[in-house]
Amino acid sequence: MQMDTLDTALSQLMSACDALGIDDGLRATLATSRRTMEVAVPLRHDDGRVRVYTGWRVQHSITRGPAKGGLRFHVDTSLRDMHALAMWMTWKSALLDVPFGGAKGGVAIDPLELSRGELERVTRRFISELLPILGPERDVPAPDVGTDESVMAWVMDTLSVHAGYALPASVTGKPVTLGGSRGRRDATARGLVQVLSDATVDAGLQLEGLRCAVQGYGNVGRATARFLADLGAVVVAVADVSGCVHRDAGVDLDRLDAALEEGGTLVESAAGEIVSSGTDPAAWCGLDVDVLIPAALSGVLDERTAPLVTARLVVEGANGPTTSTADLVLHDAGVTVVPDILANSGGLAVSYFEWVQASTWSWPEARVQQRLEGIMSNSYLEVRHAAAAQSCTLREAAMRLGVSRVAAAHEFRGLYP
Ligand code: NAD
Repeated sequence: MQMDTLDTALSQLMSACDALGIDDGLRATLATSRRTMEVAVPLRHDDGRVRVYTGWRVQHSITRGPAKGGLRFHVDTSLRDMHALAMWMTWKSALLDVPFGGAKGGVAIDPLELSRGELERVTRRFISELLPILGPERDVPAPDVGTDESVMAWVMDTLSVHAGYALPASVTGKPVTLGGSRGRRDATARGLVQVLSDATVDAGLQLEGLRCAVQGYGNVGRATARFLADLGAVVVAVADVSGCVHRDAGVDLDRLDAALEEGGTLVESAAGEIVSSGTDPAAWCGLDVDVLIPAALSGVLDERTAPLVTARLVVEGANGPTTSTADLVLHDAGVTVVPDILANSGGLAVSYFEWVQASTWSWPEARVQQRLEGIMSNSYLEVRHAAAAQSCTLREAAMRLGVSRVAAAHEFRGLYP
């Protein structure tokens, strides 16, 4: 049977609960989202036509702090995705030990088909529907697939207008001029590359000449490819919704980015050889590389595509790119998977800095980067040591650390009444 995102998230949770000896009552609590809101989002398109889209915000946990997680605008998103993604945010916050819970939200809409005015209207209407559950101490959104710092600015403005005063701590990933943190835009990629560097050394590889393939050429994938190339790695392939570009000697990112600035899709701007113009992950996951970096959507490595992987490392930029079945296939093949809740947590770390900076001076970029790199390396070491001590995978170790902290918080807080 095909596993979806929520099946994967729940199977990871149950495996952690088994290892931690968590009882049935607490297990059920951890497996259930605390609060779910589904809203209708009517949008007047530029041609006057009104269409109603569906949006959600799922707060999986608020036990350790305000709910925290991205807003996704993607046509294929669903409520089950939101539950899974919110749950992973909870474990990620706990693994990093930042005082947040976990949430995710989104609208099932294709932002690429919207004008800027339509995008702003749909964002503001969506956020106005979520007013009762959002706020700096309640639930703090951030960018995710299909949203960016402009969308976060509209989110902040909508919340602030309704409050009657500016609420800079109500959202992270905002423009710096609105109280956004320096270094937030590329924090997920920077954190990922830090963890990837540490894992590369552990795998007996070196960054110079490391052959990498990156799926997703958005906020996370594009900056990751750039950082890797700057460190001497060879980015052999990049893929996005338009297809996959492959050049064995390394994709010319300068040429690709320059062409993208002119408009057009990744494949239309191809500076290398076009492998495929569809979204089939088989186009990139079987390439002759050392590291695969899925940085787009969930579930791309499954029972069909995982057996194609010849890379030594998979470093998960996306949330949930590997199904539980694929995890077993990769483990049996000796592939090390650096899990999402560790590898892509740099954005959350700097989101925490941004939330803190709402009430302090803004930090210089060097301070943000130094703190981020320290947090990521410590987190990687903690997970690696736990995996070695418990003879388990990095994912199992990361999940056990995250879940155990949330479980402990539940035990101390108790059940009311
Ligand atoms: P983005 O919207 O900036 O980029 C998404 C990329 O994925 C685009 O290049 C798009 O073309 C590609 N894509 C979309 N559908 C695809 C498909 N069917 N096949 C292949 N490619 C497809 O989003 P992002 O912020 O870079 O997020 C990417 C992933 O990283 C998501 O899983 C997200 O949850 C995760 N993540 C993002 C952040 C962050 O700070 N933005 C933090 C942690 C995790």
